[in-house]
Amino acid sequence: MLLRTLSIASILTLAWSMPGVAAQCDNEIVRVFAPTSELVSRVCTVVERAETRLESCALRQSRALVIRVSDSPNQFELMGHFGTKNNEIGLLSPNDLAAVLSSNSAYREIDMEQLFDSIVVHELAHAFFANTPCGIETCLAGHEYISFALQFWSLEEQSREAIISALPTSSVVGIEWFTDERLTESPEVFAANAWLHFSQPGFGCGFIKAIVAGDAVFPSEDE
Ligand SMILES: [Zn+2]
Repeated sequence: MLLRTLSIASILTLAWSMPGVAAQCDNEIVRVFAPTSELVSRVCTVVERAETRLESCALRQSRALVIRVSDSPNQFELMGHFGTKNNEIGLLSPNDLAAVLSSNSAYREIDMEQLFDSIVVHELAHAFFANTPCGIETCLAGHEYISFALQFWSLEEQSREAIISALPTSSVVGIEWFTDERLTESPEVFAANAWLHFSQPGFGCGFIKAIVAGDAVFPSEDE
């Protein structure tokens, strides 16, 4: 999930097992490779549902995007990743997700197919946000804030609450809390806090638009 592993992770994609089925989603922009046709259509359905929501937050995709679903965990055991170089998303299939989750992961509170769908949204948000002037190197915390907020938005309320209540989050934090350091320390706590911040009245898509426009800036590493 973390962008700092992207370059290595995207090279690894090439070594993943050859997928069984390939298809273009109806939007003509996303092409999916997956072990089964069910997974291909599952991904396309999530993409179509997410696109409207991302567009409402000023995140759009115009370049061709490839999504590869693998049933073999990569070396870094990532649930998903996005590579900017080839504009490609790699995902682990729902059946293989549990194997890469830590034993105390809050994501174990929900169904793995739901988790998979939410990771599709997470990585899509990275891909769409990468089309904006805010680069990954300068906007790492911003990137993950957007991806986690939209990932949690895509979950059913009950699942979202199950994840959040399994994590040590108390009250809503301010933008200065979202540092690269805290992201590395605990991506799950960062994710839950991103959702709690994003879902406050007056934030939501308006806040994402402010990040995209460069009006909302996350703390830099030396602050
Ligand atoms: Zn991410």
